[in-house]
Amino acid sequence: MVEANVRELYGKLATTGEYVCVTVAGDRISSVAPVPPPPHDGEQVWISPGLIDLQINGFAGHDLNAANASMEERIHAVCHMTREVLKAGTTSFCPTVITAGDEQIRSALTAIRLACEQDPLVASCVVGVHLEGPYLSGLDGPRGAHPLRHIKDPDWEEFASWQEAAGGRIRLVTLAPERKGAIDMIRRLVREGIAVSIGHTAASHDEIAAAAEAGANLCTHLGNGAHPNLPRHPNYIWSQLAEDRLLPSLIADGHHLHPSVVKVMARAKNDHILLVSDAAHLAGMKPGIYRTHIGGEVELLPSGRLQMTANPSMLAGAAVSLAECVQNYMRFVSVGIGEALKRRP
Ligand SMILES: [Zn+2]
Repeated sequence: MVEANVRELYGKLATTGEYVCVTVAGDRISSVAPVPPPPHDGEQVWISPGLIDLQINGFAGHDLNAANASMEERIHAVCHMTREVLKAGTTSFCPTVITAGDEQIRSALTAIRLACEQDPLVASCVVGVHLEGPYLSGLDGPRGAHPLRHIKDPDWEEFASWQEAAGGRIRLVTLAPERKGAIDMIRRLVREGIAVSIGHTAASHDEIAAAAEAGANLCTHLGNGAHPNLPRHPNYIWSQLAEDRLLPSLIADGHHLHPSVVKVMARAKNDHILLVSDAAHLAGMKPGIYRTHIGGEVELLPSGRLQMTANPSMLAGAAVSLAECVQNYMRFVSVGIGEALKRRP
C-alpha cells in the first residue's frame, strides 16, 4: 500500500540502462531501487539527472530580455519560466541576458536577483547568470541578432555595476576577444571566478589563442553567430575547434547546425562539448505564427524551427528544449543516451 504523498515512477536509468523504481515522498526522492525488467516493452521511460542549460533566454512565452517590461513583469517571467523549464527536464540553468542598453540589461539582472531572493525554487535552479554581450563583434554575421547600437568594447566599471545589480550572480560572460581591452577583461573576470566564453566573434587565430591563454575556456554556440562565408582556413571556427583549452557549446536543435557539423565538432573535441538550448521565449509554445517585440512576425514549425515569416530561410532563434537537443545529439553523433549524458572531466 503506497501512502497518499508517496509516488513511484518506473523507468530505465539513462546512465546505466538499469530498470529502477524511483520513490518520491512529498517533494523528495526517498529511494532509487533496482527492479526486474518489465515483462513486455511498453513505452520506454528514461530516468536521468536533471539537465543543466548554460544558455536560455526564455521559455513557454516568458522572455527574460523583453523590452519595455515592468520590474513586476520581469520577475513574473523568471519565476514562471523556471517552472516551465523544470517540466521540460532542465533543473539548473543560466538565465541569459543579451545585448541591450544599460537600463534594460540592469533591469533584467535586477529581476533575476529579486526572483532568486523571493522564490526559493528559482534560487535553487538558477546556477548563475550568463551575460551574452554587449562586448561582441559589431560585424554582420558574427553579431547575429545583437543590436549594433549597443555593441561596445569591454568596460570593467560598467560590468561591475551590472554584477552588483545581479547580486553577484553573473557567472558566465560571452565576449569577442578581438575587442579593445578584451584580453584584460578576460583576466579580470577569471580572477573573480567568472567563466569567459568566446562568442559572436570574428577573432584571428592569435586572438583566440590569447583569449585561451588569459583564461577563457568556453565557446558560445560554436558555428553560429558567424559569417555566412568564411576563408576555408584558417578561420575562427577551426581555431576554436583546434584550441584544446576551449570547450564549445552547440545548439543541436537540428536547425542552427547541420547534423554533420554537430557530429564533426563532437568528434574533433573528443565528445568534450556542451549542449545548450539557447531557447528563445517561444520555445515550448504551440506551433504557429507569433508577433515578436523586436518587430516582425515569426513562425514556429512543428519541427521546432523558428523562422521569420517574411524570410523563411532566416532563423528567429532556437525554440526546442535542451532534452530535445540531447535526443538530436544522440542521432547526429550516433551515441546512446548514457554516452550523451556522461559527465566528462
Ligand atoms: Zn548568441
